[in-house]
Amino acid sequence: MTAVALKGRVTEIFSSLQGEGLRLGERMIFVRLAGCSWRCRYCDTPASLSARTGTETTVEDVIDRVRSLREEQPQETVSLTGGEPLLQTEFLGALLTAMKRLNFFTYLETSGTYPELLKPVIDQTDLVAMDIKLPSAVGRPFWEEHADFLNISSGKVFVKIVLTEGTTDEELERSFRIAAAADPIPAVVLQPATAIVDLEARILRGKDGLSPDGPWVLPPSPSRLQQMWERFRRRLPDVRIIPQMHPIWGVR
Ligand code: SF4
Repeated sequence: MTAVALKGRVTEIFSSLQGEGLRLGERMIFVRLAGCSWRCRYCDTPASLSARTGTETTVEDVIDRVRSLREEQPQETVSLTGGEPLLQTEFLGALLTAMKRLNFFTYLETSGTYPELLKPVIDQTDLVAMDIKLPSAVGRPFWEEHADFLNISSGKVFVKIVLTEGTTDEELERSFRIAAAADPIPAVVLQPATAIVDLEARILRGKDGLSPDGPWVLPPSPSRLQQMWERFRRRLPDVRIIPQMHPIWGVR
């Protein structure tokens, strides 16, 4: 099978404003791949979690769609996002190569938990937005995976940490240490969680056709958030608080 005939599962392809992280506010094309192994309490893409969701799509189909979106509106960046795009490693690699051939800047949004899957695609990736996932929100730690991931993406990466009212000092300490040990030290974006009903409740109540009414995942209080920023900033050179903006702008 040629690379352009390779197929993967894609849930959506669209153009919008980037609503998070260091590229906030930039118009870009999003290619959202299906499948994620984790269940973050604040996840806002539950429709992309199953590996069986979305549509089977060839690399050529994605190229056609992306080209036509660029013709409608000038834009230079393609975000490969999910779900967890690294889980479709071969398809993702072919997409990144194709996007580079089309002269796009390639932006990979990832949970930062699969260092071994990053290795084959890092050369085709211009910028990695990686999460440091906190056990209080995801249910298990990934400290070693995150440290390895930062090593592999060195110089091409910034870190995003979603903070909730359940974020602990110990989690912050582990996150500082991992970011501070990387060379070069990456920029760190502290993202207060957008208030949302816990993922598990949304999935369970959704099955009954009922609208979930809680429990809620909430951001830290403003004073706690500032305290968190100050603690990071004392030890890292570039730390910014950037909330999710697409819910406020009313875009995808
Ligand atoms: S890693 Fe991302 S896609 Fe997966 S559950 Fe967490 S927020 Fe959702």
